[in-house]
Amino acid sequence: AFALTGCSSERTGGSDGGSDSGDKAGFAADATIGVALPDKTSENWVLAGDLFKSGLEDAGFKANVQYAPATNTVAEQQNQIQAMVTGGAKVIIIGAKDGKQLATQVEAAREAGAYVIAYDRLIENTEAVDYYVAFDNFKVGELQGQALLDGLEERAGHEAPYNIELFSGSPDDANSKVFFDGAMKVLQPKIDDGTLKVLSGQTDIAQTATEGWKAENAQRRMDSILTSTYSSATIDGVLSPNDTLARAIITSVQQAGKPVPVVTGQDSEVESVKSIMEGVQYSTINKDTTLLVQQAIKMVGQLQKGEEVDVNDTEQYDNGVKVVPAYLLPPVIVTKDNAAEAYKNVPSLEKVVESYE
Ligand code: BGC
Repeated sequence: AFALTGCSSERTGGSDGGSDSGDKAGFAADATIGVALPDKTSENWVLAGDLFKSGLEDAGFKANVQYAPATNTVAEQQNQIQAMVTGGAKVIIIGAKDGKQLATQVEAAREAGAYVIAYDRLIENTEAVDYYVAFDNFKVGELQGQALLDGLEERAGHEAPYNIELFSGSPDDANSKVFFDGAMKVLQPKIDDGTLKVLSGQTDIAQTATEGWKAENAQRRMDSILTSTYSSATIDGVLSPNDTLARAIITSVQQAGKPVPVVTGQDSEVESVKSIMEGVQYSTINKDTTLLVQQAIKMVGQLQKGEEVDVNDTEQYDNGVKVVPAYLLPPVIVTKDNAAEAYKNVPSLEKVVESYE
C-alpha cells in the first residue's frame, strides 16, 4: 500500500559522485551485504543482528553483520564500515552509533559502487546515504506524549496540575530530537496552559539528554532531580524515551521510597512488558524489529534486481545535505489494556502477556 515513489536504484560505481542516472545495474544475487549495528543499548539491536544474518542468508546473500562494541564505538564502527567497503559489500545497512560521524565511510562506500541504507537512525550531513528505513520516529514521540497524559488522568489520583519530568535520548542519535519534538508537540500546550508542571524547570533537549542512552545516566539524573526538587512534592509522571531508561527512572524513584509515577517507554523490552503487566511502567511502544529488518532486506532485494525501491516518505528526513527517501513503518502504543492485542504477532511477548492472564 505504500509503494508511492520509486527512486531509481542504479549504481554504476566509480566516481559518479552519487548521481543516480544511467542504466539500472543491480548486482549479483549472492553478493555480500554489510550490516553495521551500534552497541547493544537495547534488545532491538541484539535481535536485529540475528534477523539480518538469517534473513539475508535466506534471501541468497552473504551477510557480514558487525556490532560496534561498547568501548570506542564510533571509531570501531567507522573501521567496520570501511572494511565492508574494502571487502566489496554491495549494500551497507547501518544503524549508526553516531550519525554525524560516518560521512567519510559512506562516501567511500558510494565511491566503491555500494548502496547505503540508514537503518533506524539517520546518517547526517552527507549525500552518500541512499535510503532510510525506520519506524515513524516523530509518531513515536507523539504517542509517548499522549500516553503520559492518558496515564496521568488514569493513575495520578488527583486532578491537574500534574508534576512531571522529561527525559530524552542520546545527543549523538538523530532520533533523540525527533522523539522529543513529537512528545513536546503534545505536552508543550499542556505545560503552557498549566495542566503540567515541570518542577525542575528542565525542559529543553540539552537539559533532558541521556548520554549514550545509558541507564545509569538516566538514573543519576532522576536521583538528583528527586533530591533537589521532590523532597516534599509528588512526582506524577515522567516522559521516558525508551524502556531501558524507563526502568532506570523507576528504580531511582523506588530507591527514594516514593510512589512510582506514570512512566512511558519504547521498544517492548521483555522486562518492561512484565513491568507494564504488573502495573508499574505505564506504556511502551511496539516497533516490531522483525518487520523493520524485513523491510530493509526487501530494499536490498530491489536494489539487487535493479528495481525501484519502495519508499513512502520523501519529506521528513532532511539530513542537513539532502532529504533521504524513507520507508517508515507505523509504531504502536502499548499499555496493559491492549498488550494482548498488540503482541499477538510477536510470539515471545505474547507469551509474557499470557502469563499474567
Ligand atoms: C532507537 C530506539 C532505542 C534507542 C536506544 C534509538 O535510535 O530508535 O528504539 O531505544 O535508539 O538504543
